[in-house]
Amino acid sequence: MNLIIIGPQGSGKGVYSRRLESKYGIKAISPGQLFREEFAKGSEIGKKANEYMTKGILVPLDITLKVILPVIKTTKGFVLDGFPRDLEQAKALDQELEKLGKKIDYVLFLEVPEDVLIKRLSTRTICPKCGEIFNTITLKPKVEGICDKCVAELIHREDDNPEAIKQRLKISRKETEPLIEYYNEKETLMRIDSDRPPEPVIKGIAERLGLE
Ligand code: AMP
Repeated sequence: MNLIIIGPQGSGKGVYSRRLESKYGIKAISPGQLFREEFAKGSEIGKKANEYMTKGILVPLDITLKVILPVIKTTKGFVLDGFPRDLEQAKALDQELEKLGKKIDYVLFLEVPEDVLIKRLSTRTICPKCGEIFNTITLKPKVEGICDKCVAELIHREDDNPEAIKQRLKISRKETEPLIEYYNEKETLMRIDSDRPPEPVIKGIAERLGLE
């Protein structure tokens, strides 16, 4: 099954795409993560992408496709997290998938009220080592301040403060709206109530996708 997961920051995209991978073997593909891996390897593509990432702007489409397409080609099912970010990327993805005889089955749109997102993001901590995400409301680590997976000390992102969060949510809403419209017209959009604890959300997703 080929999926895209979209939604504002804090809606649980990273959490649920990782869960879909670990529980159902649907490969999670995140361009941001792939770029970081390429940069860590010291590859040319990683160095190029890093020039844009450090400025906080989107990496050009041809470079982005170069990192995600090899994974899409070699995997049976995938969930894209962080791609597409705009209509140009959505259309390019459709074209590339068509060449491969593949298509997107569903687009999961995670919906959460804004006040809940602000609360979640301002209490969010991240593992600097493995990228696992926690918050002090619905996703508490077993030991406070320590990653469940790799026992590293969790950090709080500097830009996870209410003012910066509001600004990022505004930008992300503007970014997401045309994509929602695009996939709604294609009838692949699946709205998911993500204002619940993770377990019922993942169970609901799995049921609606027929995975259980
Ligand atoms: P993220 O890990 O999603 O926070 O992304 C980190 C950085 O990777 C972004 O600031 C962009 O520079 C780049 N990036 C992530 N996703 C995309 C995308 N779909 N298209 C272009 N650049 C991206």
